Amino acid sequence: MQQGNIGVTSENIFPVIKKFLYSDHEIFLREIVSNAVDATQKLKTLSSVGEYKGELKDPKVEVKLDKKAGTLTVSDSGIGMTADEIDKYINQIAFSGAGEFLDKYKNDANAIIGHFGLGFYSAFMVSKKVEIFTKSYKEGSKGVHWSCDGNPTFEIEDCEKESIGTDIVLTIDDDSKEFLEDNRIQELLTKYCKFLPVPIAFGKKKEWKDGKEVETADDNIINNTTPAWVKKPADLKDEDYASFYRELYPYAAEPLFHIHLNVDYPFNLTGILYFPKVTNNIELQKNKIQLYCNQVFVTDSVEGIVPEFLTLLHGVLDSPDIPLNVSRSYLQSDSNVKKISAHITKKVADSLQDIFKADRKQFEEKWDSLKIFISYGMLTDDKFYERAIKFNLFKTTDGQYYTYDEYKTLVEANQTDKDGNVIYLYAADKDAQYSYIEAAKAKGYSVLLFDDQLDVHLASRLEQKNEKTRYVRVDSDTIDKLIVKEDAAKVELTQDEQNAMTKIFSSAAPKTDKCDFIVTFGALGAEAQPILITQNEFMRRMKEMSALQGGMMGFYGNMPDSYSLVLNTDHPLIKGLVEKQASELNAKVSPIAKDIEALKKQVDDLKAKHKDKKDDEIPEVEKDAIRTQEAQMSDLEKQKSDIYADFAKNEPKVNQLIDLALLANNMLKGEALSQFVKRSVSLL
Ligand code: ADP
Repeated sequence: MQQGNIGVTSENIFPVIKKFLYSDHEIFLREIVSNAVDATQKLKTLSSVGEYKGELKDPKVEVKLDKKAGTLTVSDSGIGMTADEIDKYINQIAFSGAGEFLDKYKNDANAIIGHFGLGFYSAFMVSKKVEIFTKSYKEGSKGVHWSCDGNPTFEIEDCEKESIGTDIVLTIDDDSKEFLEDNRIQELLTKYCKFLPVPIAFGKKKEWKDGKEVETADDNIINNTTPAWVKKPADLKDEDYASFYRELYPYAAEPLFHIHLNVDYPFNLTGILYFPKVTNNIELQKNKIQLYCNQVFVTDSVEGIVPEFLTLLHGVLDSPDIPLNVSRSYLQSDSNVKKISAHITKKVADSLQDIFKADRKQFEEKWDSLKIFISYGMLTDDKFYERAIKFNLFKTTDGQYYTYDEYKTLVEANQTDKDGNVIYLYAADKDAQYSYIEAAKAKGYSVLLFDDQLDVHLASRLEQKNEKTRYVRVDSDTIDKLIVKEDAAKVELTQDEQNAMTKIFSSAAPKTDKCDFIVTFGALGAEAQPILITQNEFMRRMKEMSALQGGMMGFYGNMPDSYSLVLNTDHPLIKGLVEKQASELNAKVSPIAKDIEALKKQVDDLKAKHKDKKDDEIPEVEKDAIRTQEAQMSDLEKQKSDIYADFAKNEPKVNQLIDLALLANNMLKGEALSQFVKRSVSLL
């Protein structure tokens, strides 16, 4: 028997492995099993090149639990190790500059294990003793038994071992007993080893017989050794992709599309990405993509490795070239990772372009589900934007789909305003904005359907990227102001009439903290509605964006919604009200107006006189006079307003018209709605 110390600085390792790596203990199983798989594959390679002449058994890796002995054993029939090899690969682990690194990453087992190639030693995270029973494929090799109880001392001796290969026997630590449970090991093997290239057997298959679960003679094989992504795309049918998707996500709906990645230069990357079917954004979930390294599961949190918008996709990526066992911050700054990430983006965009070209009909059918990914990608990744603008579709309120260029060609002639801006009209809700859409169509305009919360953001992006381009919601102004072709028809009301109508309608407009109504006028034609409610595009967009983003934009989020109540001065009902209020109120209002006028003149004269004087040069009497007169003026203004408000109160048409406009915008609710109904009945 021989004794020795492992490595030179390995005193540092064991305490760290045992004590500090409290997260991720479970990965020991992945490390031990994938070593066994490697050894198995190496023997196969040696056999195929004639270096190993012996018989190749049906290769498999076996995982066994012995609860009585408290051991977990991983056995393979791979190349095995000679005593010299154990010394070289297991005992002499290079470990320079260890202390510093360990300090930095003591909570990140993956990082430490990856950095030091400590795969095998991760067994000590969960074991009080680790043993190797191995016999090399090399002719004349004897069995070797290596054993280490976690102190940096090991023992090595010859042993009887019949077959070539290696058994790794872990005597599980008292505080890691969970790794002696069948269910836990089954779970871990399924998580990490599901697609390893050599069959992994864990116990025997079970079946129900006479109301009891009994073991069969067949191995319980954990893995699918040839998952779809390692096959050639040419050898796979759509159904194969679909069934692989079900294997990955048994409960998900059929995906929309798949993209098979197969790159071998300048780096190695294979994988299949799926666009999942989502019907609403709530279902969107990140971290569905699984990352593998030579078929060994590494992680399903891929941020920093793939472009952010692709984290919404499903599927697998497999690359030996992504430094998988390092920390996240390291990954994100790694230039190789950046290259890979850019490449994936390009491939995804190219594939979508191909699908679009090859089968536009199918692409359009799936667009509504697909669009969230494309929008998100175009918003967050400029390179993707440049590619996607060719297949990003615009859907009109009529259900027609166009690319950006096609749509521009379609509307350019009719929807360019007098300043040369192409105005793209859109609606967020086909039903709520129905009358506005109809009004636009009557002018021969096309209206897009932007019913997703990202659409407004995308509209802003498109405005930035394309000159002389504006997106305007159909209800953000009256139709002739949405796309101003020539100067709009003039409103033919006197200033007095406008003031009177403003006072009347303001007094009757709904009053809440959440929205403001400002009365304006438009000559919209006798056929149009008497009153229209519009909401300024800029303010509305700011509020919408603030709802999504918060932060700086919060300012807009807290502002009330601001609407315009546009009185159509061409409409007979409005004309009628203008006349009626004049004939009924002028007699009462003009004397007050005259008084106000007179007071204003006096105040103005006094102020003019004081213009170049300092405050202490102005006589107190005159200051008092100004104050009194201003107070009188505001009293009179109030009297005037009351007269108009009285008129509004006693004139059911005013409230009825406002309510009808609110109703057309789906803004009439609760008590106001029930009052409207009552008023309507009494008017009948
Ligand atoms: P890595 O696998 O990253 O090289 P490990 O610490 O996991 O690091 O393993 C160290 C070495 O020990 C391996 O490279 C391999 O040469 C040898 N080894 C480990 N497990 C086995 C095994 N089951 N059969 C043969 N050799 C093994």
